[in-house]
Amino acid sequence: MRFTICAVVSLLFSSAVHAEEISEADLLNHIKILASDDFGGRKPGTAGENKTVNYIATEWQKAGLVPATGSPSWYSPVALVERTPLKQTVELKYSDGKKTKTVRIDEDQIILRGAMPFANLTNVPVVHVGYGNLSVSEMKPAVSGKIALVNRSSLPGATDFPAYSVRKANVIAAGAAGVVTVIGSQSRFNRFARRFGTERTGLDQPEQHADVEGIISAAAADKLLSKAQIDPKQLGEDAKSKTFGPIATGISANLSIVTQVRRFVSHNVIGKLPGRKPANGAVLFLGHWDHLGECRGEGEADRICNGAVDNASGIALLIETAKRLNADRLDRTIYFLATTAEESGLLGAKAFVAESTFPLDKLVAVFNVDTIALTPNGKKIAVVGRGKTAIDDDIEKVAKAEGREIDTSDKANAFVRRQDGYVFLEKNIPTLMITSAFADQELLNAYLNGRYHDADDEVDDQLQLGGAADDSNFHVALGRYFGSLESYPTSSVPNNTGE
Ligand SMILES: [Zn+2]
Repeated sequence: MRFTICAVVSLLFSSAVHAEEISEADLLNHIKILASDDFGGRKPGTAGENKTVNYIATEWQKAGLVPATGSPSWYSPVALVERTPLKQTVELKYSDGKKTKTVRIDEDQIILRGAMPFANLTNVPVVHVGYGNLSVSEMKPAVSGKIALVNRSSLPGATDFPAYSVRKANVIAAGAAGVVTVIGSQSRFNRFARRFGTERTGLDQPEQHADVEGIISAAAADKLLSKAQIDPKQLGEDAKSKTFGPIATGISANLSIVTQVRRFVSHNVIGKLPGRKPANGAVLFLGHWDHLGECRGEGEADRICNGAVDNASGIALLIETAKRLNADRLDRTIYFLATTAEESGLLGAKAFVAESTFPLDKLVAVFNVDTIALTPNGKKIAVVGRGKTAIDDDIEKVAKAEGREIDTSDKANAFVRRQDGYVFLEKNIPTLMITSAFADQELLNAYLNGRYHDADDEVDDQLQLGGAADDSNFHVALGRYFGSLESYPTSSVPNNTGE
């Protein structure tokens, strides 16, 4: 037998390529544990969090990862605050020229929450800032110390305004004591009210909150304006102008708000496989570990939302992918991040990006993994974020090499803002979420209209792990492709395209 260099190379090559594939059983082992009742639905700040983050760190350690929090710990703290409105008294007054009168507004048409357990604002003027398009310094004189009404939904012709969150942050930065958001339609208000009126968790950033924040229905806001001799229709039109400035309404408010405020620290888990040539950028895989805890009311037999699909499945992929990539010793460093509080608004991802423990501009590619156990094997893969980064061609190359077909319909992009990867995309970091679960819209919709965010998202025979195993092996291939200087030599981070 002739033993050539070529044969040695091909032997090495084939042993790397054919490292044992990730199987459904590999994934199921992790999902069974993470989605067990013992983990309580993995709610941040509970005993279920401790079990979850501990499990991930232990598995990653076994996989050969080392901590990447900037300290010897696997856990990066994320300060959170949970606020629940308990009680409110709202008094709105105006003068008709002769005497002071009260505007009666149905109690359920305005919902307020305090930044602190008790908020008492007395005789505070109410101003309307329209959409809040002016700069902080332009708004400040008219807004500081007042209660500002801000339009939420963009009317036709007002669609190129900055995102609502940006406009609201500007009104708060201008010193508003209260920010009350006007919600366009009654049905939309009712939907917001259900969420706003119950427990809400956010990043604990006191400087980013007004003393009082809340929502008011458009009908109630219109009534208020009419009493103040302001034509709501005219104001609606005027507010479409980018130069619309705050207007005084002549109304003043007495507010007394009681809010349950609970501060706690949750954790992101961060590890890495150090690269052989780390100066050439890095790759990041992430997925959220958290879920909803007990999501059904007292008295129900099964109250725990186990989140088997959302997102124990994604964490299982991250654990198994880490194991396979450890065997490769890649050129680039491969980071792994399990985020907290995705379910409360991508909070763990936001905290990570705000204070990253490694330079974000070194990331040549980021892959978020969320909700993958929905389809059988052999299906197409959807690319959430397709058309928004400069790495689409590379993904196609990997897909071709792996014998996978990409869904080119772009339907999955409807979810781009609803996943942790969006936080990275907003920072212009090439970030995608790639999964067969989002390629089959029928199956996806059946899930979203059924078990999603309910106690039935648990390990049973509806769990489809074929597509999840496909996705896992595809992520191993992605790690190898983007981790290697040979297949992906780019040393500078490609700029994102699109928005
Ligand atoms: Zn979810």
